[in-house]
Formats: sequence, structure tokens, C-alpha cells
Amino acid sequence: AKSEGRNLYRFFEPGMDAMVQARRALEIDLETALPRQEFDLDFQPIMNIASGEIVGAEALMRWHSPTRGTVAPDNFIPVAEETGMIVPLGEWALRKACTAAASWPAGLRIAVNVSAVQLKSGSFARNVISALAFSGVPAGRLELEITETVLMDESEAVLRTLRQLRGLGIRIALDDFGTGYSSLGYLRRFPVDKIKIDRSFIHDLGNRDTAAIVRTVIGLGAELGITVTAEGVETEAQLDILRGNGCTEAQGYLIGVPSNAADIQRLLKSRALH
Ligand code: C2E
Ligand code: CA
Ligand code: CA
Ligand code: CA
Repeated sequence: AKSEGRNLYRFFEPGMDAMVQARRALEIDLETALPRQEFDLDFQPIMNIASGEIVGAEALMRWHSPTRGTVAPDNFIPVAEETGMIVPLGEWALRKACTAAASWPAGLRIAVNVSAVQLKSGSFARNVISALAFSGVPAGRLELEITETVLMDESEAVLRTLRQLRGLGIRIALDDFGTGYSSLGYLRRFPVDKIKIDRSFIHDLGNRDTAAIVRTVIGLGAELGITVTAEGVETEAQLDILRGNGCTEAQGYLIGVPSNAADIQRLLKSRALH
């Protein structure tokens, strides 16, 4: 068994080494990407289903690397979280998003994704307040999207930060709702203004059981007096089901794809509430 172990070690070492090196290279590229201004935000519109009006947009981060091309957030945010890079990166995103929203029609909301690491860093509330002051966007127009895993450790400090931000009028949305393993528990313990039903449920809305779950979550939102947003809405059939069940908001390719700041501003000006 011992020699087998040595063989395995010899067998895997070069491969693992390449992985470690690739990972290290990504970390280095990521670190220099912020000062080199390689990051950008796209914005995806969010629609009120009953009125058909656009009520705001979600900021989605993009990394345009000169050597790697455009890297999707799922491929770099986890790395940025592990290295701590997400803290300055997230702070940049907040400012950039609020600055963009400052030129949108009054009342339209800007939603920004927040990572666990950011929320746990002592400077988060201060950074949020500073982004609002810098941009002149009122707190009531900012929504912070937090995934359930962020809340997993339920630290008293995270709760205090969320309460403080909410006290200022900032809205808190529970992102990817239904994919965590304690969604209902979080709803009970954390101050939440909105649930975003994960797009995997919307994609599978043709399935009877999934449709029953989505109906139940919409009903739950109504009972709790919180907004329910369906993510990943791609078809009229999906939107019809959501409308029929009283879902508050929809987001997805059917309503609008993520687009750059100039394009979203045009769209919002033409389709916002007057
Ligand atoms: P998310 O917050 O759940 O964002 C929604 C994702 O679904 C986006 O992917 C969006 O482009 C995609 N999407 C929107 N409509 C549709 C649709 O109709 N069909 C399908 N199939 N997909 C749709 P994206 O932009 O690749 O972002 C992936 C994830 O990266 C986000 O998921 C979020 O968790 C994270 N992320 C993005 N920007 C930031 C950021 O600034 N900070 C942090 N911490 N995370 C971010
Ligand atoms: Ca989100
Ligand atoms: Ca989501
Ligand atoms: Ca997600």
C-alpha cells in the first residue's frame, strides 16, 4: 500500500502542479485587473409583472482580460473571494453601479450582488454609505443581493450590519432562493425585503412539482409582505404562469439581457414609470 501511495503521488504531482500554477496565474491576473481597469458592469432590467414596467436593474460584473478574453463572474468571483480581492472589487462595483444609477429616472432601483467575504469585512457598511454619498443615489433605491451561503454562519456581526443598512432604507434581497439548504430558516432569522427565486426553478416550471414549489414561494412572499422576483424568465409561457400566480417581478432574457451602462440607461428612460 505504501509503494502504491508513492506511485500515486508521482502520478498526480505534475498534474496538480499545473493546476496550482494555473490558479496562481489567475490570482495574479485578477490582482492587476482592477488597477488596469479591466472590470466593467453590465445591467439587466427587472420588470414589475402586473404593470409591465421596468422598476430597476441588477449590476453584473464582467472581466475583460487582454489575455483571457471575457471571463464570466462564476469563474473569477470565487477566486477573488478566496484571495480577499473581492473586498476592493466589490467596493468598486458598488460605486460604479450607484454612479450609473444616478443618471437613471428617479425611483428606479439598482441591485448589487454582495459576497459573504465583503459582508463580513468590517468596512462593508461604511463602503455602502460612501458609495451612496459619492453618487448621490438615495438609500431607498439601493438593493443588496445576498446569497443564502453568505448567511450560513449566522454571525451576530453580519446580522448587525444588515440591520444597520436596512435602517438606512437599503433593501436586502435573498438571492438564488431555494438552492440553499436552509432557505426558510434564513427568512425567519434575517431581515429580508425580497426573495429571488433561483432560475433553475423557473427553467423547470413545466414540471408540476416545481410549479407547486414556485406557487408556494410566491404565496409565502405575499404572507410575509415581501417582494418575490423570478430569475431567468426566458419564455412567455413562464411569465404567464408567474403572472397567474401573483409573482411580483420578473428578470431574464425575455425581459432583457444584461447590457452596458449606456444601453440600459436608454432602455430605462424609455420604459420606466412616469
Ligand atoms: P446571479 O446573481 O444569480 O445573477 C444572475 C445570472 O443569471 C447572471 O449571470 C445573468 O447573466 C444570468 N441570467 C439572467 N437572465 C437569464 C436567463 O434568462 N437565462 C439564463 N440562463 N441566465 C440568465 P452572470 O452575469 O454570469 O453572473 C453569475 C453570478 O456571478 C451571479 O449570479 C452572481 O452570483 C455573481 N456576480 C455577478 N456580478 C457580481 C458582483 O458584482 N459581485 C458578486 N459578489 N457576485 C457577482
Ligand atoms: Ca443576483
Ligand atoms: Ca440569482
Ligand atoms: Ca447565482
